[in-house]
Amino acid sequence: MSRLVVGECIVDLHPEGAESGAHGDAGTYIRRPGGAPANVAVGLARLGEAPDLWTRLGRDGFGDFLAETLREERVPDTYVERDPDAPTGLAVVALDADGDRSFSLYLDGTASTGLEPGRVGDDALAAVDWLHVGGVELAHEPARSAVFDLLERTPDAVTVSFDPNARPSLWREFDYADTLARALPNVDVLVASAEDLDPAGYEGTAETVASAVVADGPHTALVTRGAAGAYARATADAPWGAGHADHPGFDAGVIDTTGAGDAFTAGAIEALDGGASLSDALRFANAVGARATTAQGAMAALPRCEEVDSFLDDR
Ligand code: ADP
Repeated sequence: MSRLVVGECIVDLHPEGAESGAHGDAGTYIRRPGGAPANVAVGLARLGEAPDLWTRLGRDGFGDFLAETLREERVPDTYVERDPDAPTGLAVVALDADGDRSFSLYLDGTASTGLEPGRVGDDALAAVDWLHVGGVELAHEPARSAVFDLLERTPDAVTVSFDPNARPSLWREFDYADTLARALPNVDVLVASAEDLDPAGYEGTAETVASAVVADGPHTALVTRGAAGAYARATADAPWGAGHADHPGFDAGVIDTTGAGDAFTAGAIEALDGGASLSDALRFANAVGARATTAQGAMAALPRCEEVDSFLDDR
């Protein structure tokens, strides 16, 4: 089994002490590893086998911290690039009283936008079973061209999942809706929250949005609803067969929802790639997502497979 995850690995700065607080009103911040695709990669590593991660870090202290984190999580450094000229990307996190968060992203001109086309060769790509791509890289060049080049070269036998991760402040140079429309024909499994699909014109409930997505290229749509779980729809082209599934989510005692969607994605990939049915995969992914909300930081509470299994056995 060989998996490749593509996209930013950045430092999340969390306000210290305060479990709530608007961006800017904390005196001290704690650095924690983050970046949606990096969270997915570490989520997969915790659940079983570590995937490759194609990402770019600065050659600075934050870059060293992230490289060390990836090493500890057993993510190979084959595609972990270090940029001698640009700093490591950053996000400043603000949490409200419910543990819901917002981000201020500092990515423009950082190493994380510096992926270049062609780094992953055709032979390496042909050996991959599952490719997961994060959408944030599509907001800036040259990473945008690098990701489209990869998506367009990926053989049909590779399952491609994609999480657009809409962050309106990032989309100054390129149009988000047009970008998503260009990516979707090369995507098999779309994973997104309903809020991330709304700015691309997919409006309505998770059910209506999922039906619209599977008419536009992907054979499977997984639409998340935060604490209310997720909805999934697949067409007959999906290896797990046509169908739909709805899961109300789990209450695991939320502390911080940062990275919950990425944990969900890791759970969905692990389950679907392992041969689970759509509804079993949705249940497993919701359990991984719920467990991930039980500690501060995107990666801290990413569960191991045994923990998810015993969490599910108790329910
Ligand atoms: P994102 O994190 O990408 O914004 P969501 O907020 O929809 O996406 O959350 C993704 C998944 O994480 C949900 O489908 C659910 O499985 C889990 N999750 C998120 N918030 C909570 C919560 N408060 N309690 C339990 N599970 C949650």
